[in-house]
Amino acid sequence: MSQEYDAVVVGAGPNGLVAANHLVDRGWSVLVLEARPDVGGAVASDRELRPDFVHDTFSAFYPLAAVSAEIQGFGLERHGLRWTHAPAVLGHQLPETGWAVLHRDRDVTAARFDEQHPGDGDAWLALCADWDRIGPAIVGALLTPFPPVRPGLSALARLRSVGGLRFVRELLMPAADLGRHRFGGAGPRVLLAGNAAHADIPVTAPGSGLMGLLLTMLGQTVGFPVPVGGAGMLAHAMADRLRSAGADVRCDSEVTAIEVAAGRAVAVRTAGGERYAARHAVIADVAAPHLYGRLVPDEALPRRTREAMRSFEMDPGTVKVDWALSGPVPWRETPPYAPGTVHVADSVEEVAEALDQVAARTVPARPFLLAGQMTTTDPTRSPPGTESMWAYAHVPQQTARDAGDGTIRGVWDAADRDRFADRMQARIERLAPGFGDRVLARRVLGPRELEARDANLVGGGLNGGTAQLHQQLVFRPVPGLGRAETPVRGLYLGSAAAHPGGGVHGAPGTNAARAALAHRRARFLVRR
Ligand SMILES: Cc1cc2nc3c(=O)[nH]c(=O)nc-3n(C[C@H](O)[C@H](O)[C@H](O)COP(=O)(O)OP(=O)(O)OC[C@H]3O[C@@H](n4cnc5c(N)ncnc54)[C@H](O)[C@@H]3O)c2cc1C
Repeated sequence: MSQEYDAVVVGAGPNGLVAANHLVDRGWSVLVLEARPDVGGAVASDRELRPDFVHDTFSAFYPLAAVSAEIQGFGLERHGLRWTHAPAVLGHQLPETGWAVLHRDRDVTAARFDEQHPGDGDAWLALCADWDRIGPAIVGALLTPFPPVRPGLSALARLRSVGGLRFVRELLMPAADLGRHRFGGAGPRVLLAGNAAHADIPVTAPGSGLMGLLLTMLGQTVGFPVPVGGAGMLAHAMADRLRSAGADVRCDSEVTAIEVAAGRAVAVRTAGGERYAARHAVIADVAAPHLYGRLVPDEALPRRTREAMRSFEMDPGTVKVDWALSGPVPWRETPPYAPGTVHVADSVEEVAEALDQVAARTVPARPFLLAGQMTTTDPTRSPPGTESMWAYAHVPQQTARDAGDGTIRGVWDAADRDRFADRMQARIERLAPGFGDRVLARRVLGPRELEARDANLVGGGLNGGTAQLHQQLVFRPVPGLGRAETPVRGLYLGSAAAHPGGGVHGAPGTNAARAALAHRRARFLVRR
């Protein structure tokens, strides 16, 4: 005998939790099954380095959650969530001009850019004004299922007010060109390029401009907020909301198979031998390569899906380093406002070089670092006067060569991981002499460790698949499947592998839940 629910959600990452919350709100009975001992997927925190330090194991800053109508609509504050911000959103120390700083007060950001390059202050404010007019419609279009009819029309209606096709052309530009197009100085250019590099689109390739602009303008308008107490607080608030609405959330329950009968997903089976039937939907918050061909047997899939999955591309691997520091980061030049997020590269060209090397299956000699000063952002993360810090950098999924001293083979065993972590730390040491002396404890998570802690992070890829244009929109995860629906009826892909991809915005989860509800309504009407 198996238990039966209206929907079974496989995986309690942010997308699974969003999907489940959406469905319980519509009166469905929902079971969430999570393989790991705790909910959250890549939204988690731990105290492994030292008991008095909280480290976010994976993701840390949540501008996308801040603009997600769905997540904001859950009222997670009633479930223990509190948001906080660093004094400045983002900083980037450049050798010649000093810190480029994004402050939540746009006048402060603009004034500093203007000091560094007269004219850039007004150019910044003009860009912000354009975003005020069209940004919310762009965000809406990105976070809804493809094609985004209503927000798309809204964006079109606003296009003239921001310069029409000129603005569209800018969105299509590579981030490096967009920066040069709008600004004379290095500061705003490097912030745009660094933000574009949060995804794996080379900053010299089309598509990166939109990514850079999106994250930069979100930083400017909503900041990069973090949950007080650690990233895990966000996941726990979503799980708590679910449980109090009557849903079942079971951890240590890995789903090993999705049962398909007459072309329809009808149940799931777990490693522990349980079977759970799904009356209306199975929502898979799992990696695409795990769903197709592993959880769903090949014979239940059409040939075109099996063939298309052969060319599915993950995004690059990741090496993440966490440090417990005895004091604040000793930046050579003190930033005018302490940033939560820090980008490390000497120039736009160096950002481009690191990404291009990764794309060319080369371990970068001078990796581009994305870093977080977490105690600066949220003082509860470690004792007063100390810093909970992390940085990550991308590495190839398959390595052909090392552009550095040639000692990293790309197998990501302990030796590779430590050498690469030393390379990353040396990048920070250059900008903050004495950094190493403040390290009380260090943890290095390579591609394998990341995947061992969250099966969706295949090969250490953190966005559920490349964000490059050939795997976006209707091409995500494979051509023709730009929506949550899969070739199996009643089975919906609700992870970052689905449109619109990685980041903690919950859109794939919402899209999957909405699709399940719409199909249920349609079946109900047909039967009547
Ligand atoms: C190091 C790192 C840093 C990041 N930084 C940021 C950031 O600062 N801001 C941001 O917005 N995004 C960031 N991201 C990206 C973001 O975290 C992910 O895009 C997001 O978590 C994807 O959510 P998801 O629910 O699709 O998958 P995940 O968060 O990966 O969760 C999937 C869950 O499903 C479970 N699961 C998988 N298979 C099964 C199975 N068969 N049975 C049961 N359970 C299963 C997994 O254990 C996991 O808990 C980062 C990611 C990483 C790895």
